Amino acid sequence: MAALQLTVVVPCFNEAEAIETFHAALLAALDPLGGNLEICYVDDGSTDGTRLLLGGLAALDTRVRYTAFSRNFGKEAAMLAGLRMSRGSAVVLMDADLQHPPELIPRMLELHRHGYDQVIPRRDRTGEGVLRNALSHTYYALVRHCMDVEVIDGSGDFRLLSRRAVNSVLSLPESNRFSKGIFSWIGFETVSFRYRNRERAAGQSKWGSRRLLNYGIDGLLSFNNRPLRLAIYTGFWVFVSALVYALWTVVNVLLNGAETPGYATLLTAVVALSGIQLVTLGVIGEYVGRIYHEAKHRPPYVVRETDETCPSLPGEPEPVATGELSDIAADRSRTIRQFASFVLIGCVNTAVYLAVYYVLNQWMPYLAAHAVGFTVSFVGSFLLNSYITVGTKPTWRGFVRYPLSSVINLVVSGALLHLAVSGLGVDKNLAALAAGVLVTPFSFLLARWAITSGRGAPAPPDRPDDNRAEPSVIKSDSH
Ligand code: UDP
Ligand code: MG
Repeated sequence: MAALQLTVVVPCFNEAEAIETFHAALLAALDPLGGNLEICYVDDGSTDGTRLLLGGLAALDTRVRYTAFSRNFGKEAAMLAGLRMSRGSAVVLMDADLQHPPELIPRMLELHRHGYDQVIPRRDRTGEGVLRNALSHTYYALVRHCMDVEVIDGSGDFRLLSRRAVNSVLSLPESNRFSKGIFSWIGFETVSFRYRNRERAAGQSKWGSRRLLNYGIDGLLSFNNRPLRLAIYTGFWVFVSALVYALWTVVNVLLNGAETPGYATLLTAVVALSGIQLVTLGVIGEYVGRIYHEAKHRPPYVVRETDETCPSLPGEPEPVATGELSDIAADRSRTIRQFASFVLIGCVNTAVYLAVYYVLNQWMPYLAAHAVGFTVSFVGSFLLNSYITVGTKPTWRGFVRYPLSSVINLVVSGALLHLAVSGLGVDKNLAALAAGVLVTPFSFLLARWAITSGRGAPAPPDRPDDNRAEPSVIKSDSH
């Protein structure tokens, strides 16, 4: 067989609605080119029949190959699998939803023939919301400032790579992959051109706001250690400001005599410092997490079947059982993570309440300050737990039910307190602490129930984020 000239790699996740239209459009663009080519589809654990459709396409056309994952491992893993499958001397990476127009492939090949190892069509931002546009621009400005590699606004994964560029990408052993950075890091002759942004042909984007945020953080952390440096600088400046403030206080006391100490200043300083410490710990934790994750040497994905293997042999145990087991494990780890987030948000909200209460106390009666502080921390708790803990949009129904969890919490902790103090003779303070701790998991379950009760179906499992062993949280398109 003559050497393959072109491989088109297409990651697909729940693209049953779009895949056939895409395949037809791709063939319409590729057929006039002639030559030897192959199309490598990677099914990233779809649940909507995409895998069967790909099997059908592969059975009809020998140029079509596919690999299907055992579950959703994320687009980064799917692209990696596609690059590993590819055999062509040029490889085009593109999405399955026709947002990356196949008609551009001839132009990309033409530029490749002129000696370019990377040809990048850059989309403009036509049809994008103002907010998303502004956020993207800010993100890219930040990335340009912070990252050790250059990432161009509008350039995504849609690109042509020469064989030597693909080999360089594959030679990088890291499993926490941020392709945008990797493509830029490998270097080689690169050219880009603009094309008009397009809407999805069918189906829905798989990138919710939370996934995008994770992707953004991954991008920022993958290619530099500046966030750590920023933490050092922030700590240094906070320390210097505290020193200046202390000197100023001493001088003031010497000149004017002692005044009543300001609790508000003290508390604001404590809360601000705790915030900085938490953020810094989080940044360090992210890096440590990455080291831990790399040290495990887990493969970035698990293959369920390919066009060359038989999906299931007669007499083999039902594959569903494994899926169910991994679902249970995923559910458990999600609940643990949600609980940790719930506890953390509880601490943050207590700090917010105290800060608001102490600051407002100077201007209004203490009960009014308490009411405002309580309302702010209550609404904050509901919103943070909705967006971060449960990962869903808040609803009015959830908001109305949310206080119920606090009421039940109050009653149950009161009952436990009574039992401990009157029944078991435990010290009052110790009993209150123990009751508070014991009732927390219970109030977490109630709060989660209240938040999700406003939705038709339970919150979608956010699998790609559950397992940091896979790079799925990384979104490598032009957001
Ligand atoms: N995709 C994937 N795994 C995922 C999410 C997305 O393989 O976990 C694929 C998806 O099928 C599509 C491409 O990545 O071919 C881009 O996804 P999408 O269109 O949802 O992203 P957007 O265009 O909104 O950035
Ligand atoms: Mg898309």
